[in-house]
Amino acid sequence: MDYDKTLSLPRTNFPMRANLPQREPEIQRFWEEMGLYKMLREKSQGKQRYILHDGPPYANGDIHIGHALNKILKDIVVKYKSMQGFDVPYLPGWDCHGLPVEHEVVQNIGRKNLSRSELRRECREFAARYINVQREQFKRLGVLGDWDNPYQTFDFEYEAKVIEVFSQLMERGFIYRGLKPIHWCSQCKTALAEAEVEYMDKVSPSVYVKFKVTDDLSRLSDRLAGQEVYILVWTTTPWTLPANLAIALNPRFRYSAVRCVVGMSQKAQTLLMAEDIVGTNMANIGMADHEVLCTLEGRVLEGIKCVHPFIEREVPVVLGDHVSRDEGTGCVHTAPGHGQEDYEVGLKYKLPMLSPVDDSGQFTSDVEGFAGLNVFAANEPIIKRLMEVGALLHLEEGSHSYPHCWRCKSPVIFRATPQWFISIDKNDLRKRALKAIDQVEWIPRWGMERIRGMIGSRPDWCISRQRAWGVPIPVFHCQECNSPLASHEALESVKSLVSKEGTEGWFARDVHEILPEGFRCPQCGSTNFRKETDILDVWLDSGLSWACVLEKDLAFPADLYLEGSDQHRGWFQSSLLTSMAVKGSPSFRSVLTHGFVMDGRGRKMSKSAGNVIAPQEVIRKFGADILRLWVASEDYREDLRISEGILKQMAEAYRRIRNTCKFMLGNIFDFDPSIDRMEYKELLEIDRWALHRLQKLIPEVTKAYQEFDFHSVFRAVRNFCTIDMSSLYLDILKDRLYTWGGPSPGRRAAQRALYEILDVLVRLMAPLLAFTAEEIYQQMPHPGQSVHLNDWPKVDEGLLNPRLETKWTRLLKIRDVVTKALELARKAKLIGNSLEAKVSMYCQYSGLYDFLSEYEAQHPTIFIVSQVSLSNESAPAEAYQSPDMKGLKVLITRASGRKCQRCWNYSPQVGANTKHPSLCPRCIEVIDKYYNKLEPR
Ligand SMILES: [Zn+2]
Ligand SMILES: [Zn+2]
Ligand SMILES: [Zn+2]
Repeated sequence: MDYDKTLSLPRTNFPMRANLPQREPEIQRFWEEMGLYKMLREKSQGKQRYILHDGPPYANGDIHIGHALNKILKDIVVKYKSMQGFDVPYLPGWDCHGLPVEHEVVQNIGRKNLSRSELRRECREFAARYINVQREQFKRLGVLGDWDNPYQTFDFEYEAKVIEVFSQLMERGFIYRGLKPIHWCSQCKTALAEAEVEYMDKVSPSVYVKFKVTDDLSRLSDRLAGQEVYILVWTTTPWTLPANLAIALNPRFRYSAVRCVVGMSQKAQTLLMAEDIVGTNMANIGMADHEVLCTLEGRVLEGIKCVHPFIEREVPVVLGDHVSRDEGTGCVHTAPGHGQEDYEVGLKYKLPMLSPVDDSGQFTSDVEGFAGLNVFAANEPIIKRLMEVGALLHLEEGSHSYPHCWRCKSPVIFRATPQWFISIDKNDLRKRALKAIDQVEWIPRWGMERIRGMIGSRPDWCISRQRAWGVPIPVFHCQECNSPLASHEALESVKSLVSKEGTEGWFARDVHEILPEGFRCPQCGSTNFRKETDILDVWLDSGLSWACVLEKDLAFPADLYLEGSDQHRGWFQSSLLTSMAVKGSPSFRSVLTHGFVMDGRGRKMSKSAGNVIAPQEVIRKFGADILRLWVASEDYREDLRISEGILKQMAEAYRRIRNTCKFMLGNIFDFDPSIDRMEYKELLEIDRWALHRLQKLIPEVTKAYQEFDFHSVFRAVRNFCTIDMSSLYLDILKDRLYTWGGPSPGRRAAQRALYEILDVLVRLMAPLLAFTAEEIYQQMPHPGQSVHLNDWPKVDEGLLNPRLETKWTRLLKIRDVVTKALELARKAKLIGNSLEAKVSMYCQYSGLYDFLSEYEAQHPTIFIVSQVSLSNESAPAEAYQSPDMKGLKVLITRASGRKCQRCWNYSPQVGANTKHPSLCPRCIEVIDKYYNKLEPR
């Protein structure tokens, strides 16, 4: 008789080797063909909605690992919430306008030969092309969503909505026109974006200038009483001194008042400068001989009054974190009209935006004595003036890196020009936004302080850009009286034009085609207008997605925004501020942020460092599920690390989970849950233990998903698979599954447990291992159409059995001791396979003996040996005792009798039966009961 045919060995088509790079695209096609996303929408109709609002990535290149991280995290949330019974539409979007796209296009084809409308057309095509590229790349990650109908910020409808909300912001008084410094080329007479500026060396004069303090500083220190105090500044752009309005100090620095004899007058003066660099600066101005009178905190100097060296103007001391000690004196000459940081500090202190320079780079008539001079040519006469008034302490020339125009290569200047702004304090916007932050849940918690700090201190939002690719600022200027015009009526007509023709209509059409007929300037009655040429900051596009997407297609507010932690500065802010301004409430209920992906050593990834890991490569080599598992395994609250080595570890963790599932699948091939399911009371204790463990796993994993704590999900699932299942339950189960007979109650009991465990496990891991869970699910008996259409598993209270768990925890601890003893015996070459062993257990106290005797019949199965004896006598000297368990000694000897050909267990009775001389009595019983129809060979 061929006894092998009477064994129930695992049988499954589920391959050991995952081969994810090939298999995943097949599963993706399977989902697409069944219309899984649509089926999910139908299934959840009428359920409570959960809106995760997708922040739109720029459509300007292949996706990188940070995109993959972001989209996978979102997909995990969407899949989990969906199985939880929510209606979770996921509408992906793309940011299509803006410099990232325009810059790429200009780089690729050059701008010189393109008209504005040609450039815009190229940009549109470029963005559309990358939307298609990224869409396929995102889908390949296993991310499920409405990929056929994404929102795109260049859609006409989206653009029209942006115009509409702009108009609402305008009507509520949030939008104003003001001055802001930008790079300006006096040769080309144009504003330049940061990307159009090249840094080259330039020789400039560098000067030390003193500003006389007019306040009495003796209130800060007695030692300053009666002193003539000056603040010492250093600058390489003397031409900006006529626009000086303040001196900036760092609130965290300490400043020394240094008494010295200055200049030919031999008069003693006191100079104020940062404490740590007194020596360097005094050496620079040739004042080796000096005395420090006192040292003051930078913050106490705020508001001190000085006087401009050659203009009749009061100059206050202001504070700013941008002030450094790397160069100069720690006291920064501040001209808000001529520098970005100066400008920002100027906004904070409400300094005027003075920029007395015209388009050709010449001083205007506002500057007495220097009007008409080119600013660079004005350096010399200004220095001369400083000398005349005795304010110049030192002059030298030096070469330094300076911005130049990318086209004509001449040095550019920073110059304030008119720009459009959203006022942050109008209608208490800032206060209301800060208050709203408290009502939002920030994950992790520190996100709240971060955005609070940023909104608390931010200046007004400059929303105009001197670019081509974007939504136009829909404002008209009267040609007669020059006043900007943005009436409701005018904006309505722009909006209706844009909804029909896109923003291209604005650029292509003449003013009179856009404005309603007979439209007149409310100031002067003129009918002569020109269009504003600036476009809107692209952050306003995406910032208004709550109006263009949430309100229109989903629901306002969103339940969750989930982006990288740089968006506290970006999208979260632009979305919050605009929704607070227009709707009066925040656009999100909760905000989750993740860190950035670093290389294996925690360094930033960059092309030049050669440490970039592209998601496409990971997928080609390992598969998307390995990437998804990596995302889940890392703590995304901080920066994440990825490397070939880390991915290999992930692949190994994956292999263990996969093999556990393969074993379970292989052993339920002949199990029909509707027919073969055994009752709970018919299960063996260890089956009930396994089901109990499963019930404990469900709330643990659910809680972790609920709290977005995905690395705990990963850990719990991995540990359940490798410890509870693979090394305990499944190991012990093999003998029963393979040899007790196909339809035997014992095997059916194990199969019920296996089926239920797999059925729960596959759902618990579906949000993480989207592909593999599907692959397993399709191999299970009676599958639904997709694992992702299932409900979330619930705890079956009837399967909880804490009393049993206590007992089995003890038993499994004893098993550890026996396993250790077997290992030693194997090392000593006493046994090979554990079935060759007999285990003799000697209990040193009766409690342990009584406990173990209750399970005596099961001992061989639990320890996977042929024979076990239990005694309460004292053990022979050679018995093993574990340091972890006092009171138990274990002796391993070779099992008696011969090896059963069928089950490999040893028994003295093998050979006693004439019909089956090579079988043990247990196997003979099985054959007689279930396989008696098989003919002897
Ligand atoms: Zn130029
Ligand atoms: Zn007018
Ligand atoms: Zn046997």
